[in-house]
Amino acid sequence: MIEFRKVESESTFLDPRKGFSPTSVRFQVRVDPLTGRTCHFSHFGAVKPQKLDLAGYHDPAVKGFCPFCAEHREKTTPRFAPDVVPEGRLKNGEALLIPNLFPYDIHSGVVVMTDDHVVALKDFTRKRLNDAFSLGIGFLRRIAALDGSLPYHLMTWNYMPPSGGGLVHPHQQYFATAYPGNQFMDELSASRRFAERHRQNYWYALARQEAAGNERYIARIGSGHWISSFVSLGLLGEIMCIFPDIFSLQDLTDEDIDDLVSGLERVFRYYEDAGVYSFNASLCLGPRDQEHFSCYFRIVPRTFLNMRDFAPDLNFFQAILSEPICVVLPEDLCREVKPYFK
Ligand SMILES: [Zn+2]
Repeated sequence: MIEFRKVESESTFLDPRKGFSPTSVRFQVRVDPLTGRTCHFSHFGAVKPQKLDLAGYHDPAVKGFCPFCAEHREKTTPRFAPDVVPEGRLKNGEALLIPNLFPYDIHSGVVVMTDDHVVALKDFTRKRLNDAFSLGIGFLRRIAALDGSLPYHLMTWNYMPPSGGGLVHPHQQYFATAYPGNQFMDELSASRRFAERHRQNYWYALARQEAAGNERYIARIGSGHWISSFVSLGLLGEIMCIFPDIFSLQDLTDEDIDDLVSGLERVFRYYEDAGVYSFNASLCLGPRDQEHFSCYFRIVPRTFLNMRDFAPDLNFFQAILSEPICVVLPEDLCREVKPYFK
């Protein structure tokens, strides 16, 4: 039912590394089975995640001023208006919820995840992750009850500087919006069309088909199906967790959050071993009263291309052509990640 379409081809040139003998290099273009958007797969193995000097981020010259560090928080972070969060700010374990000083929409929160300024992946304990997600999703539930006019709910997370994150101190954004981005809206409308055509939920069919094919299916943990995406938005591959039976914030339970965190911990263990030091992640939740668009979590590693001139891992493809490019085949990524879910 779901068609995984790829076009494989090659480019031939006279290779200076082989005495200018003809050499052919293969590449692929894959078509996202839901949206029809394409992605280039090439440069296989040419980009390796770069090691970040975590201790270096404590150096005062590098650190600069951090509003999220405990000694500054009270004075420098905003408080919610009383009609939104009467407490002003909310705390859950180490996690602290505050309004975003640079809001994305009417209700825009930030969860400062830890007391520590620099947190390595190995130090994101289950409790730290659970406290942060629970606090942020609790905030989304509050604003959904207050204001039903913003149908889409998102958690977004930039971790460490290669991801574009402006602050090293771990933090996530939680917001409700009518404009959740082009990718989200394309997937939402394509999901509706798929459901109309096939009388079935795309995400449910995807989880089932990937599990049967077993090339990109990593594991199931509770309500979540972890897969290596056929089309990756990230240069170093993309991992998704699909929750076929969760459609909107109202369906998401604390047990689902536990399931998500349990899988995420395993992804982090894999990232540690693979030398990944930075990522972008999102949790996307559709509108109420529909059953065609399921909730999903998406995570992609980020890196500088090198530590000499800190070239970013995005280029004209993503910036101008809106075309993702990936140097890792999803099937290879799946094989590498799978043991961490055993
Ligand atoms: Zn800090």
